[in-house]
Formats: sequence, structure tokens, C-alpha cells
Amino acid sequence: MTHLAVAIQVESVPQALAAAARAAELGADLIEFRVDRFTDPEAVAAVVQQSALPCIVTCRPTWEGGFFDGDDATRLALWERLGECVPPPAYIDVELAAYQRSPQVRHTVGLVVDHPGQVRPTHTGLILSSHDFTERPRGLYQRIEAMAAAAACRVIKLAWKARSLRDNLEAFEIALQRHKPTIALCMGEEGLASRVLAKKFGALLTFAALDTGGGTAPGQPTVRDLKTVYRWDAVNEETRVFGVIGHPVGHSMSPAIHNAGFDATGFDGVYLPLPILPAYEAFKATVGSWLDFAPLHFSGASVTIPHKENLLRFVRESGGEIEPLAERIGAANTLGRRGDRDGKLYACNTDYAAALDAVCDAMGCKREELGGQRVAVIGAGGAARAVVAGFSHYGATVVIYNRTFEKAEALAQAFADAPGKVVAARLEKLCDSCCQVYINCTPIGMSPNVDASPIDTAATPGKGWGPGTVVFDTIYNPPETRLLREAKAAGCMTISGVEMFVHQAAAQFELWTGHAAPLEVFRAVLNERLKVISN
Ligand code: NAP
Repeated sequence: MTHLAVAIQVESVPQALAAAARAAELGADLIEFRVDRFTDPEAVAAVVQQSALPCIVTCRPTWEGGFFDGDDATRLALWERLGECVPPPAYIDVELAAYQRSPQVRHTVGLVVDHPGQVRPTHTGLILSSHDFTERPRGLYQRIEAMAAAAACRVIKLAWKARSLRDNLEAFEIALQRHKPTIALCMGEEGLASRVLAKKFGALLTFAALDTGGGTAPGQPTVRDLKTVYRWDAVNEETRVFGVIGHPVGHSMSPAIHNAGFDATGFDGVYLPLPILPAYEAFKATVGSWLDFAPLHFSGASVTIPHKENLLRFVRESGGEIEPLAERIGAANTLGRRGDRDGKLYACNTDYAAALDAVCDAMGCKREELGGQRVAVIGAGGAARAVVAGFSHYGATVVIYNRTFEKAEALAQAFADAPGKVVAARLEKLCDSCCQVYINCTPIGMSPNVDASPIDTAATPGKGWGPGTVVFDTIYNPPETRLLREAKAAGCMTISGVEMFVHQAAAQFELWTGHAAPLEVFRAVLNERLKVISN
């Protein structure tokens, strides 16, 4: 069994007991009391004996990344007192370095913890630990061997700062090859996978923070996020792993959406933020190693800025399949594996399909019926490219309006042979437009610049606007932009970028899981998250 342990910095007996009780309510089953700055043996004993959950007691010295700057005698007295607690702590954590260096530490700890030579009854186990807050330590495996060889050691614990997502794989391997119960965790944003997937690899525990910003090590998710976003209770050895690859990805809404979708459909999957540095080499090395690590069951990813082009190159070089329109767009946002887990890689672009679906749903038509439409696309960047590709592919006439006219021209040129006509126009000419569909593909109006709009609706193209005009803003934060508010007031049919976001995620979900995506769940989660951000 893998425990969900909440780490608590102890400041007083009531504070520690209240925090432990709250952790129990939130679903933790173990507490780590960090007593670095709270070392009075009687007070710590009171905390241990009244704790709502079984506990680990740790007094971490400054030289190992903690706050304790006292002498050995203080810790020896503390450990001795813990040996008399009823009930005793489930574990005490002692640094390997202290244990190896000091015969006194070994002697005192040996009296307190359970081990083959122990003569008095005790149920406290010894965690021998090693931490590196800056990098993967040299001699990681020698440390493991030393911990495994120490007769009194019941649990091996290693934690180090992940240099990249690849370090998680080593943590998984260590957990899998365990000689004794093992905790192997990577710290920092890149280490989240090792924390969320500890259960998949049979580690003894993972650590979570009680509240945002309240962790005891960098990268600890909150217990609430672990349970509700990252599906702690559902994760098992066979769980398939997905994620969003980008840089940065810390604020992506995709983990909340896809994990809620897995919950709603009962699909055995978990979805994580996967930050990878911008270079192609970093993408190739990381994604390649994750795909090759069979026990991880890494099955697919959403891919965002700056890796959409890198995904195409990677799948091409790997001999995988690329959706023709994604090739044409020059960017893909979805990585998957055909068939079962060992299947061929594929890359596709669900952004263009999402834009088409959002408009077709609102207009109540099929993609094939878009042929007679004139579509104004504002912007000529990545989003515009996908939108232009999709609408022109289905025969719509597309006019690209862009601040930098040359970019509009180049984009129109790239799709000159599409079934629908594609032309470029100067942004100032938007006022003369006689299109039926307007799609904003610029960030104008996006939070925090919510008072901006790419179209001056007072002057233009208001003369033609009204019922029968469709105005689609690809921006989803805020869900209703100024552009959409004004278009709605003029009687236009409006579509929020939320719909595009939901549809691109839904298409990915269906490709990966074979289940219809729970669109209402996706919408609800996204709107909830956007509400939290705007408050
Ligand atoms: P991008 O590649 O950087 O392109 C941005 C485009 O907007 C460029 O054509 C740029 O014109 C134009 N632009 C930027 N600021 C402008 C300004 N102040 N005045 C006039 N034009 C301006 O960005 P992108 O990836 O295409 O993303 C664009 C927007 O699409 C994002 O803000 C996002 O909200 C939205 N989006 C939504 C979804 C979704 O799922 N809902 C998905 C993707 C993107 P120049 O060529 O002259 O620089």
C-alpha cells in the first residue's frame, strides 16, 4: 500500500494536532511531523500520542535542507523520548549521513526502532533518508546500497531536485527495484510525476502539502489536488499516463479537464503537466525516454507552445503517422499511440477541428456545409493558421486580416491550393468586410487587457452585423470578451473560445480513450477554473 502522507511543520501542539485532523479529513492516511523548530521532547511526544493519524517524526538539520540547527544531543534526547510514546510514531526519519557519521546516533536510534536485533517491543520503523535540493546526487545507488545494508533501516528514502522530467524515470526505477520499502521522489516542478505516480510504482508513500504554499519540499502538490485533480485513489500499476507538454505548463487547465474526464468515464488514466525546455533536443530526449519506459504506460500528450512543431518532427523521425492537415498547418497538438500501448506513434492537430466544431455546433450545420460561407480570420499566427486550414479545407472562402500584412499574405499563400479560396487583407479593411463569420485569432481582449477588442464595433463592420452573423473569439479567458459582448448586443450569434478549448480537448480524449468526451464536465471544469482565476 502506498500512503498519502501530509507533511506538517510543527509550531505548537494545538496547531500540529489541528493540521493532522484536517489532513485526515482530506483523505491523508499518514502525517509527517516536521519538528525542526519544535524539539522539546515532551511537546513532540504529546503531538505524536494525540495525532489523528499514524505519523513519521522528522527533525531535519539545516545541512540536509531542514531548519534544525541544534546539536546531536538535542536530537538524541528527542528520539529517546519517542521510544516511550504510546502509541509510538510509525516511523522516525534520520538522514543517512548522520547515521553513518555518528555511532551515538546509530546506538540511540537502534534502541528506539524495530529491527532484527531489537530486544524490546517497538513498532517504530526507521526511514534512512538522503536529500539533494539542487540536483541528482552523485553516488545515488551507493546511498541506496548503504541504506539497504543497514539492518535497522526499514525504509529507504531518496529525494532530489529533478533536472528534467527524465529524472522521474530513475525515481520510478528505484521504487520498482526496491529491496526494502522505498520512497523515491523528485523535487521541483519537473518532479511532480514522481509524487503523483508513487502509487503506480509501489513506493511506500508520497508527500502532499496541507495547503497551497504550505509544503515542506519544492513541488509538493496539495492533498486536495492529489486526491481530486490527480486521481490518487484511482491510480494503480496499470494506469495509463498522459500529460500536457509545453513550457511553461504550470497554469494549464488541461490536467483538471482530462482527469475529470477520466473520472466521469471510468477510464484508467491520469494526466499531468509535463514541462520540457524549448529546444527540440530536450523534447526528443524526454518524450523518447518516457515512451520507452514500458512500466510507465505513457500513452499520449497534448502539446502546446513551444513544442507544436517539435512534435511533428519527432513523430516524423520516429516513423509515426502525421495527420495530413497537421502536416499542412506545420504544427500538431496531439501525440498518441495507435492501437494498444506498443502501437505506432501519431501526431494530429485537434485545434482546427475544434474551431470547425465550435462554429458548426453553433450554426447547426455540418462541416461539409461550410462551402458557401465567407469567413474573416483576424490574426495570422498559430491559431489563425489552424483556423484557416480547417475552414478552407471544407470549402469556405477565408479572408485573413492581420496587423502585419505580409504575414497574412504568406498564410494565404500557404493555403492557395485549398478547396476554399484564401485571401489576405489589411487589418484596416475589416470595416469593408462582408463575411458571415468573424474569428478573432489574436490575443486582443485577453485577460488582463479585457477592455480591448480587435474590432471597433461602433464603426465597423457593424453595418453588416446582426442576426445571421457569427462572431467567434478564440480567447477563453475571459469566457466572454468585449468583442463577444458587443457582438451579442448587435444580435450576432457568438461563440466563446471556451468552446474551442473544450472541443480540442474532447477530440484528444476520444482519440486516446475511445470514449465520447463528457463535454459538459469539460465545460464545467474549465468555467470553474476561469472563475477562480478571475477572482
Ligand atoms: P501568435 O502566434 O502569437 O499570433 C498572434 C497574432 O495576433 C499575430 O497575427 C499578431 O499579429 C496578432 N496580434 C497580436 N497582438 C496584436 C495587436 N495588439 N494588434 C493587432 N494584432 C495583434 O498567437 P496564437 O498562438 O495564434 O494565439 C492567438 C490567440 O488565440 C491566443 O491569444 C489565444 O487566446 C487564442 N487561442 C485559443 C485557443 C483555444 O483553444 N480556445 C487555442 C489556441 C489559441 P502580427 O502578425 O502583426 O504580429
